[in-house]
Amino acid sequence: MGPSHALSGAAVWLGGSWAVDYFADYHQSPLQIAVGTAVCAGGALLPDLDMSGRVTAGKGGATVANTFGRVSLFLAEVIEKASLATYDLTKMKHDPHRHNGHRTLTHTLPFAVGMGALTTWASGAGGKWAVIGILFFMLGLALRGLFHTWAEKAGWILITILSAGAAYGTYLYLPAGRGYPLLGLAVGVGCIVHLLGDVITSAGVPILWPLPTGRRMWRMIGVPNALAVSVGGKVETVLLRGAFAIVSIAAAVGLVGPAILEKFDIRL
Ligand SMILES: [Zn+2]
Repeated sequence: MGPSHALSGAAVWLGGSWAVDYFADYHQSPLQIAVGTAVCAGGALLPDLDMSGRVTAGKGGATVANTFGRVSLFLAEVIEKASLATYDLTKMKHDPHRHNGHRTLTHTLPFAVGMGALTTWASGAGGKWAVIGILFFMLGLALRGLFHTWAEKAGWILITILSAGAAYGTYLYLPAGRGYPLLGLAVGVGCIVHLLGDVITSAGVPILWPLPTGRRMWRMIGVPNALAVSVGGKVETVLLRGAFAIVSIAAAVGLVGPAILEKFDIRL
């Protein structure tokens, strides 16, 4: 579901940017909009970094786990194990035994809020290299998710080089005052969009964690099987992705269209 998650993150950020521009007169530069969109698309893939593959073979894992080759596969392995450890530590009587940490800790609201806060703090306190590092990582995830067919052919080395270049270029032009908190917001919103995306699949996500219900801490909340979106099915690959793409394009036109018309003195 990688590409759908990434596209939904981009659509929500662009749609939201258009809404605050139109209704609250909050304007952003085209660069801010582009960076926010990419980081939110990357953030919408972040929770699936808990899906590890086989590190030594360089295979398997979620789409995003392959972004930076074996380095990100290893990271996914660590995240999956840490998530499983958190699950085991906090599980209650009626929570089932698990062998894998996928769809646990990284698929909770505290994780989403925590990642957003951590990003904002790190980009403010960590200086130049922290910002470049965050941008590098998030842009890599976004490239992998948004252009997945191309990314698979291009391979992780090219993605790593492109993300590094884009991160450095962005750092040079992104204003610190408004730009850095925006990075954190985009990461947090992206994670939440991911959770909503997984809620509509039948497996569900532990969205209530850490609130216990009926002696269960990790209750998987999803829609009933009859209504659930099947992963890789037509509804996901055509209908949902199409809708996200249309929303993204419409919002982007709404955001930058008027400025372009004005620049060339075109009146409609
Ligand atoms: Zn997920």
